[in-house]
Amino acid sequence: MNYAEPPTLRPRVAVTEVGTRDGFQSEAAFIPTADKAGVIDALIGAGVTHVEATSFVSPRAVPQLADAHEVLARVARRADAHLSALVPNPRGAERALGAGVDEMVSFVSASETHNQANLNAPIAVSLAGVAEVASIARGRTPLRGAIACAFGCPFEGEVPVDAALRVVDAYAALGIDRLTLGDTTGMATPPTVARLVQAIGGRFPQMRVALHFHNTRGIGLANVMVGLDLGVREFESSIGGLGGCTFAPGATGNVCTEDLVYLLERSGVPTGVDLDALIAVAQRVEAIVGRTLPGQVMKAGPRLRRYSIDGARRAVG
Ligand code: ZN
Repeated sequence: MNYAEPPTLRPRVAVTEVGTRDGFQSEAAFIPTADKAGVIDALIGAGVTHVEATSFVSPRAVPQLADAHEVLARVARRADAHLSALVPNPRGAERALGAGVDEMVSFVSASETHNQANLNAPIAVSLAGVAEVASIARGRTPLRGAIACAFGCPFEGEVPVDAALRVVDAYAALGIDRLTLGDTTGMATPPTVARLVQAIGGRFPQMRVALHFHNTRGIGLANVMVGLDLGVREFESSIGGLGGCTFAPGATGNVCTEDLVYLLERSGVPTGVDLDALIAVAQRVEAIVGRTLPGQVMKAGPRLRRYSIDGARRAVG
């Protein structure tokens, strides 16, 4: 990696915002539909081009996202903004297509125990469901395959690279060429990221890989840098660091979108996102959920934010 200052310009990266799905689904209270759509509009206004907007999960299973169709109907659609949605089953896929999503996302865990806990089925049964979704999607909308617990499982511990590769094999056999590696409980480390990304790149050079890290142990952005160095050009994150995984013990927030954009832009990687506008969206989301979010750049401000010396606290250290 070249750490020149000012940073040399590197290839553009796509930041996929997942907060309105991954974040709002974990909120105890139902977030009003107008607020969800308003946040998505504001994110797109800030320059975010990819938003995982919602999930077409059963409203009984996740009542927080029962308004998936209405959210997509309210968002001001733009040709330069791609809206995706999670689809846990064929019924969800039909609903997502009806709402006009630009991409559907299927998901399976690399860990048998987590898959059972999250989806109430063995991995093989879930993959049969993905095959049904793939046949519904074919010729209508692109399908992404996500892998939960790709870097570790809260129940099983280490997840072997081969376990993740078996899921990628199954996805590739269905014609899926977009992949998200999810670090559901923040267990990824720089070496495990490198190992899995390189293994997938070696076996499936055509596969477009996105990385979805959680900052559970404080090294989400370090893992992003490893992915970036290995040529990954898509990262998923959540505004303000909202969210986690409802079904995984110990899971906390996703990598924060403003912090990610700050890191990328300061490293010479264009994102197309306006950081000040993004910080304003994060503050709006804080007001919506009614609590302080973990994002750090939204509190400190951009790097060259300057303060008046009057009233500055004097301290050493
Ligand atoms: Zn997440």
